Amino acid sequence: MQKDIFQRIIDREIPSTIIYEDDKTIAFLDINPHTKGHFLVVSKEFSENLFDIEDDDLINLILTARKLALSQIEKLNAKGFRLEINSGIAAGQEIFRTHVHIIPYYDD
Ligand code: 5GP
Repeated sequence: MQKDIFQRIIDREIPSTIIYEDDKTIAFLDINPHTKGHFLVVSKEFSENLFDIEDDDLINLILTARKLALSQIEKLNAKGFRLEINSGIAAGQEIFRTHVHIIPYYDD
């Protein structure tokens, strides 16, 4: 089976700006950011999206995403953030490996 692009980032086969990693998750800057500091949090255990992710993996992913969002938002001096998980082609999902978008928002 061919590796998905996020697995290739996990395996350091393609470059990315990694901002966090532990044994279950990895977080890196989105290559095409909606706003400054937009990053993605990816579960290392494979699933496609919210349709098939295991409960434990989802809980861990969301808790990590919130923790990283709070620390990055403070670093960036952002005022808030949006957390997004696209699930399915109809919802605009492009990469079929569960990931959370953290999109910071600023005053201006
Ligand atoms: P989706 O629509 O699947 O929720 O979003 C996938 C996201 O992955 C997009 O925002 C896109 O910019 C990002 N992306 C796609 N390929 C790469 C890549 O090779 N490196 C990084 N850092 N981000 C990527």
